[in-house]
Amino acid sequence: MGKIQIMDEWLSNKIAAGEVVERPSSVVKELVENAIDAGSTSIEVFLEEAGLTSIQVTDNGSGMDEEDALKSFSRHATSKISKEQDLFRIRTLGFRGEALASIASVSKVTLKTSDGEHNGLEIQLEGGHVVSKKPTAFRRGTDITIAQLFYNTPARLKYLKTIQTELGHSIDFMNRLALAYPEIAFKLVHNGGTLLQTNGRGNVQQVIAAIYGVQNAKKMIPFSAESKDYKVHGFASLPEVTRANKNYMSIFVNGRWVKHYLVQKTIVDAYHTYLPIERYPLVVLYIEGDPYLTDVNVHPAKLQIRLSKEQELLPLIQEAINKAIRSAIHVPVAEKKEKPVRIPTEQMNLWKPAPSPTFDEAKINAIVDKLNGEQSIVKESTQPLQNEEESEEDLFVEKPTEIEEQWEVPPIQQEEQLSAPPSNEEVVEKKEPFPELEIVGQIHGTYIVAQMEDGFYLIDQHAAQERIKYEYFREKVGEVNPNERQSLLLPLTFHYSADEAIILKENLQALQEVGVFLEDFGQSSFVVREHPTWFPKGFEQEIIEELIEQVLKTRKADVKKLREDAAIMMSCKKSIKANYYLTKEQMVVLLNDLRKADNPFTCPHGRPVMIHFSTYEVEKMFKRVM
Ligand code: ADP
Ligand code: MG
Repeated sequence: MGKIQIMDEWLSNKIAAGEVVERPSSVVKELVENAIDAGSTSIEVFLEEAGLTSIQVTDNGSGMDEEDALKSFSRHATSKISKEQDLFRIRTLGFRGEALASIASVSKVTLKTSDGEHNGLEIQLEGGHVVSKKPTAFRRGTDITIAQLFYNTPARLKYLKTIQTELGHSIDFMNRLALAYPEIAFKLVHNGGTLLQTNGRGNVQQVIAAIYGVQNAKKMIPFSAESKDYKVHGFASLPEVTRANKNYMSIFVNGRWVKHYLVQKTIVDAYHTYLPIERYPLVVLYIEGDPYLTDVNVHPAKLQIRLSKEQELLPLIQEAINKAIRSAIHVPVAEKKEKPVRIPTEQMNLWKPAPSPTFDEAKINAIVDKLNGEQSIVKESTQPLQNEEESEEDLFVEKPTEIEEQWEVPPIQQEEQLSAPPSNEEVVEKKEPFPELEIVGQIHGTYIVAQMEDGFYLIDQHAAQERIKYEYFREKVGEVNPNERQSLLLPLTFHYSADEAIILKENLQALQEVGVFLEDFGQSSFVVREHPTWFPKGFEQEIIEELIEQVLKTRKADVKKLREDAAIMMSCKKSIKANYYLTKEQMVVLLNDLRKADNPFTCPHGRPVMIHFSTYEVEKMFKRVM
């Protein structure tokens, strides 16, 4: 007798549930996406115990008639795809038609819905089976409640993390959806406390304010660019806003939040030399293009995506963001700041939104204790809140300032506080001019003090020189001139292991392009007989060795990147270090050179070169003015 049997639908739903419904946040995601697909303009999510007890999603979308409502819970029931071509032209968030069936198979569901034309309907399901069905008075839209998730799959329940971790995932999803759809009003309530509320007025900066705080939203610069196939736009933070992990970069492709390693890397590259190492910007990037170019069908939760024509898209993104930040950077202003307290990133999302008074106080205290690193009654979770696969590298961020902590501005008020963002065009024109400065002196052999009409500057001489040298070397290394070579009296010889020698042989050309003229000498040996005249004196051998190391590390040299590395390396070697006293003339020369730099305000590592103290601020400090 044959052993193969066709699985019954209930069993296959339960198996699919393992794929689609991983945790409470996956249910939140699927239900909210359905509400979005139904054309809702207002979506409210209520969670009890992070969704483990119940998840309720209320929308004002199209609703369903009785036939559709009943059908929606069967596997592969979807109103969104009817023919094969549709699969390549997906505009809706859902299309697999398995979410409701999967969710229903592992929970107890109550659905109230009305299409606004017929009577409303209320259906109850348990473990995927309809247990009751009755007419009910209901306005147009849908209200779905998922209770006792995973009640019949105890194994899955066991794997769920603590309440905070689960809640963190849901907050993260809601934040991204709110950013993806600024024209929809979202609300997320947990155990009675509001964690997120957006106004649905279509203003992305206001959504950013609702999620990351008004202070950060004010420091976001708009960008946009278009190519033949793609349109990209969004907001990028000023270099002074930095984060310790990559979760603050949100990428949306045709309205869908996606994780895309290369796009993320491109964003980081756009900030090259503007941000300190291992710090990341806050960026909201929207990519729009023909759905044909974006294959979303590669991941069941549709988080990963394949993009065609990356060679066209990536430079478009990088240039748009880079141009925007270049034109908007200005000198950091001296601020009286308290020393940052380090707290684990994993609680960031819980910290930000102001809890409403109904929020369970004991739990809040436990969270606050945890933020302060104290022993807490809530079980410690080992899992960071969001995107665990990406955030493990940096677990610390600065504690939000007091203003952010107390932030509880309802979205409507935020509008007035946010000045209208300048358009990209405007910004390009007004690159911050270098101030007219009169040198006062030097302190601690480290900082130059220079004054102007309405205040003074402290200039970090080391950072200033690094910036000047960096720009000089970047130009030199950008096109190595064959006439600017100098022979070495004694050639340098290098020996490497056989596998390293293979890598080097494959990258001889790339090394040559940055001025390292490495010759294969056989038997894994190499020789260098000459180098560019402009290599920093006394550091020639060191530079050559470091560039070779760099190639060995990356295995396949990217010339553009190698040039950058070379320029940074050389600028560091030659710069005056701290505790070095300069004559007035030397200071004048330094500031004149700095004035000529493309970006005189940050060093190649992204640290500020100069800090401004305005007369007004100083007078305020001395209480001469109020
Ligand atoms: P998919 O979203 O992939 O089509 P789902 O299982 O999530 O599959 O939903 C099945 C169908 O149920 C949807 O195609 C849609 O027609 C209907 N539906 C689900 N949720 C809603 C809602 N909130 N409002 C209106 N229709 C809905
Ligand atoms: Mg769906």
